Formats: sequence, structure tokens, C-alpha cells
Amino acid sequence: MDEQIESRQRPQEQLPSSEEEWRQRLTPEQFEVLRNKGTERAFTGKYAFTKDRGTYRCAACGAELFRSEAKYDSGTGWPSFFEPIAREAVELHEDVSFGMRRIEVRCARCGGHLGHLFDDGPEPTGDRYCMNSISLSLEADDAQRDGVAD
Ligand SMILES: [Zn+2]
Repeated sequence: MDEQIESRQRPQEQLPSSEEEWRQRLTPEQFEVLRNKGTERAFTGKYAFTKDRGTYRCAACGAELFRSEAKYDSGTGWPSFFEPIAREAVELHEDVSFGMRRIEVRCARCGGHLGHLFDDGPEPTGDRYCMNSISLSLEADDAQRDGVAD
């Protein structure tokens, strides 16, 4: 009979427990951003201008982070969102590197560095989640339907 679908989250897989394991799982470019808090160059990320409908997952662990409906063109060259898919999907941490006081945004599940949060976003939140494309993986809504077995 019909099975109740509790969540669209993928099955909880074991997360790497060391940076060395993360290094093996991620590409060098992903590792630099997600684990070393690097920043991809503006206008180079694959999602900078994407308008496809879907869910942006964490590229490191698959957790759902943002919906395309919250994405907007900030003009910065990085994919920008005015809110996460759920408040608890991301963690905020003070970041005082590079002589700036910024708010770092991390994936709440794996701790991967996603980008920074600024307060110059559009309505309704005024927030700008300035993300690195390489930290995200877009699951298009169409692909999600195709993935459903009968
Ligand atoms: Zn993650």
C-alpha cells in the first residue's frame, strides 16, 4: 500500500569524520570552499545566473538548503537567496577574517562553508545569503519527478 513519505531528505549517510576523509570525498575546488572557507571568484560559479526551479542541496552532504523561489539576482556574481529552505538548515557564525566582521553561513548538517549573510537583501526578509555555487547542488523539480518510482 501507500507508504507515508516522511521526508524528502536522502537517507542519512555517514558523514566524514576527518578533514582527510572530506578531502577524498570532495573535489579540490569543493574542499577549498566547503572545508577551508574559500570563496569562488564572482561570476564564475555555475549557479550565479540560474533561474531553474528546484531545491539547492549542500554539495558536501546533500542536505536541503535553499529553494529556487528564494533566489534572486543580486548583481554580485554569486547565487543569492533571501532565505534558506528552513531556518534550521543553516548555521550562522561570526567571521572576523580579512579584517571584516561578517556572518558566515554553514550547512547545519555537515558544517560545510556555504558563504556569508548580509543585511542588504530584498523583501520580504531583507537578508542576502551570498553563496558559493560550488557549495551547492541544484536538484531540478523535473528531475525529482522523474526520480519517483511508479
Ligand atoms: Zn552539508
